Amino acid sequence: MLVKPHQPVEIWESPVEPPTGADVLVEVEMAGVCGTDHHYFIGEVDLPGPMVFGHEGIGRVVELGPEAQTDCVGDPIKPGDRVYWVPLKPCHRCHACTILEDTSLCPHQSPGRFRDPRLTPYATYTDFALLPPGMAFFKVPEGTPSEAVIAFGCAMPTMLHAIERLGEIRLGDSVVVQGCGPVGLAATLLARLAGAGDITVIGAPDARLEMARRLGATSTIDLDAAATSAERAEAVLDASDGRGADIVIEAAGKLAAFGEGMQLVARGGRYLVVGLWSAPGRAPIEPRHVNNTNIRIIGSALSRPRHIHQAVQVARRHHERLPLAEAVSHRFGLAQAQQAIESAGRQETVKAVIEPGRDRT
Ligand SMILES: [Zn+2]
Ligand SMILES: [Zn+2]
Repeated sequence: MLVKPHQPVEIWESPVEPPTGADVLVEVEMAGVCGTDHHYFIGEVDLPGPMVFGHEGIGRVVELGPEAQTDCVGDPIKPGDRVYWVPLKPCHRCHACTILEDTSLCPHQSPGRFRDPRLTPYATYTDFALLPPGMAFFKVPEGTPSEAVIAFGCAMPTMLHAIERLGEIRLGDSVVVQGCGPVGLAATLLARLAGAGDITVIGAPDARLEMARRLGATSTIDLDAAATSAERAEAVLDASDGRGADIVIEAAGKLAAFGEGMQLVARGGRYLVVGLWSAPGRAPIEPRHVNNTNIRIIGSALSRPRHIHQAVQVARRHHERLPLAEAVSHRFGLAQAQQAIESAGRQETVKAVIEPGRDRT
């Protein structure tokens, strides 16, 4: 539990409730440590009260409620099966859910509302989670390693949603990805799968850039080496005959990335902003630049159930050919959750996971 920003996380105990109705009780196998967890820890995202950490989970089904029989695409599930979830629970009773049919905009599903393990039993830094009806979860097929799914945590569904909002990536489009954490890595992989041409990834440290290259980046720019924003812009312009990139994807989570990204978009190009969810602040832009260059700026937050399902399918199809599972670089027990969050915050990890079972063995 995060009780207050900057205070070490605490372990609270709460009884495991047996599943009733269509609930599914799972034992958490792995919880992804997300950059957002660190943003909560340092107080950049409002904390409404004590909050259970963890919004990326893979677990094994322990017990089904009397009305639970399948995952959310009708695949039968039984005790022992693995399931993956991102605990977004849309209300299905608001304008976004019902009229827009866009549950990613539902104001009632925010992870910020996870105040108490008994009230929010589907958070993931826990031994057991209770998955309620109305919250999407999907079976992980036999043969697909848990790591290949959890390595991209909430980042893969977030990026699948974002790419859907971006629209077409044409064969040969040049793409710049700002950031090489899990969101940037997911963007790199999906751009490659979509047939993009040059894919340039800007980020650090080298372990993350190396993974970006293995997942499809054709070139990388090390933030630690290219010291100034102007130098990085020059490198991107040089590589594109001065045009800039057809598509720039902001996955950096740093406010400064926005202004820099705007300079990298080619005339007629698109700028997809995905990583600034928990980066407060303002950034100057020159509105006539948007006007005069026909660029489009597209925002995208969270995901919908179909993207969570697609994320499992991406792992299933590509885990043998691509080093998806290897992106899990660090493993921690529940008792080391604080250490896990801090080392993810320092970007020492490609992807860290919490394995609650580690403390017990
Ligand atoms: Zn996340
Ligand atoms: Zn809603």
